[in-house]
Amino acid sequence: MNQEFTVAKFGGTSVADHAAMSRCADIIAADSHVRIVVVSASAGVTNHLVALCQTGLSNEERQAHIDGVIAIQLNIIECLSLDADLAHGFDTTLNDFKHSASHSTQNVPLTNVQRDELLSFGERLSSYLFTQVLRDKGVASSRFDVRSVLKTDSQFGKAQPDITQTRIRAQAELVPLLSEQVVVTQGFIGSDEYGETTTLGRGGSDYSAALLAEACGASNIHIWTDVIGIYSTDPRLCNKARPIAHLTFDEAAEMATFGAKVLHPATILPAARSGIGVFVGSSQDPQGGGTWIEKVPSSELIAGVRAVTQRKNQLLLTLKSPEMLLASGFLARVFTILSEYKISVDLVTTSEISVAVTLDNAPNASRPELDQEALERLGEFCHVSVETNLALVALIGSEIQLRQSELNLMRVLSGFDIRLICHGASKHNLCFLVEQGQSDQVVQAIHQQLLEQA
Ligand code: ASP
Ligand code: MG
Repeated sequence: MNQEFTVAKFGGTSVADHAAMSRCADIIAADSHVRIVVVSASAGVTNHLVALCQTGLSNEERQAHIDGVIAIQLNIIECLSLDADLAHGFDTTLNDFKHSASHSTQNVPLTNVQRDELLSFGERLSSYLFTQVLRDKGVASSRFDVRSVLKTDSQFGKAQPDITQTRIRAQAELVPLLSEQVVVTQGFIGSDEYGETTTLGRGGSDYSAALLAEACGASNIHIWTDVIGIYSTDPRLCNKARPIAHLTFDEAAEMATFGAKVLHPATILPAARSGIGVFVGSSQDPQGGGTWIEKVPSSELIAGVRAVTQRKNQLLLTLKSPEMLLASGFLARVFTILSEYKISVDLVTTSEISVAVTLDNAPNASRPELDQEALERLGEFCHVSVETNLALVALIGSEIQLRQSELNLMRVLSGFDIRLICHGASKHNLCFLVEQGQSDQVVQAIHQQLLEQA
């Protein structure tokens, strides 16, 4: 493609049913720059699939999840008449789903390979249906199986992309299709070097869109979701929360990492690396505005706090080793084990003989973050304590320093128990942990004090 083009991604609520898909198709039909469309599974489907991966389900429970997935598809298909190529693929995929789901009938845990295969069906199914909706609007389009180009390692449940292989394959197999038609493909899934299906982690379709945009040389990524952009905080918590028109890549990355649920945290990486602008808007209100995430010259940076986010279900792991007093190598040992078990930590605070780290403990994760075996390995040389029921609250912006406004923060927080504070490694955030039951109130108080004054 020698002309500029856009990758558009539609999230689960945007492709939840026929009416929602139809609104998305209108957006594409109205913008000839859109050449690649990345879809999520229809809302609710991946949760059913995650549930099907569990052991210990009763037959009724299992059947209810299988029926749940099928009902969502049938509800959409009722409004469509699938072209022969799509009908064939869709029927085969639905049968494969039923077959895969039946693996979970025994009380034996699924293998990692089976699990990611099962999790992949939501996107594989929705992409057939969405292609038909687009064709019905008169847009020439075809469905493309992303697994042939989006190559990853074999870390099932949280696979890491192979950027080079993905670029080579996307340039050879995907880009040549774009001059003729719009290509509809799947978010969230990829394949490893042996051709096994992998997944990128919950919410990973945004990341897929950014990876494909980078691999294919797109100039923009449009993320269509159910809110008109990224807000100064969750609008369901504070009615004075406002959408932010422009964010820098750094600010957006920090917001996604620290709980603004609008974007998968890794999405910004490829976009920032390749200078691709990201727009976030609502498919229900495409004219309603949105947030542009772009490179901003330092002279135009807005200093100070621009948003407050929270991430619930945090786990605090504190490791103490009195023998390490004045010795070296404690942190190295701890982090070697965390890295061996691929445990991703967010906040870190240290003192001479102890270190505390936070991990995500999300209930619907496709893979638990903390491994029992890792805990035992750590327990061999330090005292380990695990605290749960915590939420991470983060102030996000640029050039955040403990100036007067941030010092006011301490007054706001004086009524709450703060478990841990982290600031200094980055001027884009100031984070702390609070008891989960108090975190909504903490966010409201901070938003009111720091973001509603102007
Ligand atoms: N369907 C996947 C999920 O629900 C990926 C995504 O929608 O981004 O997590
Ligand atoms: Mg999402």
